Amino acid sequence: MDIPELNNMKKIEILALVGEGSYGMVFKGRNSETKEIVALKKFKDSKDLGEALLELQMLRSLKHENIIELKEAFRSKGELYIILEYIEKSMIDVLQQMPNGVPADKINNYSYQLIKAIDWCHKNSIVHRDLKPDNVLISENDTIKLCDFGLARKMSEISNVQNSYVATRWYRSPEIIVGAPYGKAADMWSVGCIIGELSDGKTLFPGKSHSDQLLAIQNILGPLPTEQQIIFHKNPFFYGTSFPAVSSSISLENRYQGVISSTLFDLLKNLLELRPSERCLSEECLKHPVFCLQRLLGQLDRTVSRQSN
Ligand code: ADP
Repeated sequence: MDIPELNNMKKIEILALVGEGSYGMVFKGRNSETKEIVALKKFKDSKDLGEALLELQMLRSLKHENIIELKEAFRSKGELYIILEYIEKSMIDVLQQMPNGVPADKINNYSYQLIKAIDWCHKNSIVHRDLKPDNVLISENDTIKLCDFGLARKMSEISNVQNSYVATRWYRSPEIIVGAPYGKAADMWSVGCIIGELSDGKTLFPGKSHSDQLLAIQNILGPLPTEQQIIFHKNPFFYGTSFPAVSSSISLENRYQGVISSTLFDLLKNLLELRPSERCLSEECLKHPVFCLQRLLGQLDRTVSRQSN
């Protein structure tokens, strides 16, 4: 991969540390030549260079209005750095400001943009695999920018080895947890969890361990399909752990009754299907009636920009 060896660190004035994830440190910085405020991601360990290069490759191939923009990549003294557009807040900040949930129009606006970003990834055969509120940045004009492609993979490269990677448990789909084959639908499950959390401000499935995560899911949605339970029992990762069976569940209807509209609930139900084959994928979601206003506004935008060109 073509990455110049530059002493570009000199031109970036570090202003603050804004995030520290599993793979890198993210700083707010200012380009001393252009004065532009940027985010500088420094990859932690040169041992993880392979992972870092994969992330860079993903960002280079994904140019979209709802995906964080990669400005530059360079190496300096053996370390890899990437410069990204800087976005002030994340969905975590929004949830902290509104602990009882976000207004319906905002939920629709955020979810539509998030699904558009995922649709673009999936059209490019990329599964993000780590969708969570921390990785959804929100700009001043409420534009969603999906970030952190550290775990994203080309669909052809996804292995089916159980728990070979660490993604945030609360947003992880049941097929991934039990060790079944997974793909695009796993990202859609995470979107469902995010929409649920935006609706009432509470994490939908806050599991404390892998098996507790399955319990949290079943406590609301009912028992996992038999085929997923069979895979759980065959998975060496769970040897010695009994399947967390549930005798009753509260149902998604009861959890969100009186909290969200019936149209948004319909979308949520389709995203939180236990069987990935029954889950709504991005393209279908974007056509859902709950997003009729967002589609109309999008059409209007396109018409205006065509007329002004
Ligand atoms: P890691 O891959 O190590 O998990 P991330 O890319 O997720 O690192 O970055 C860690 C945190 O830094 C994010 O959760 C986010 O809060 C913040 N962050 C990342 N990219 C940006 C950006 N472009 N602008 C502002 N903050 C960012």
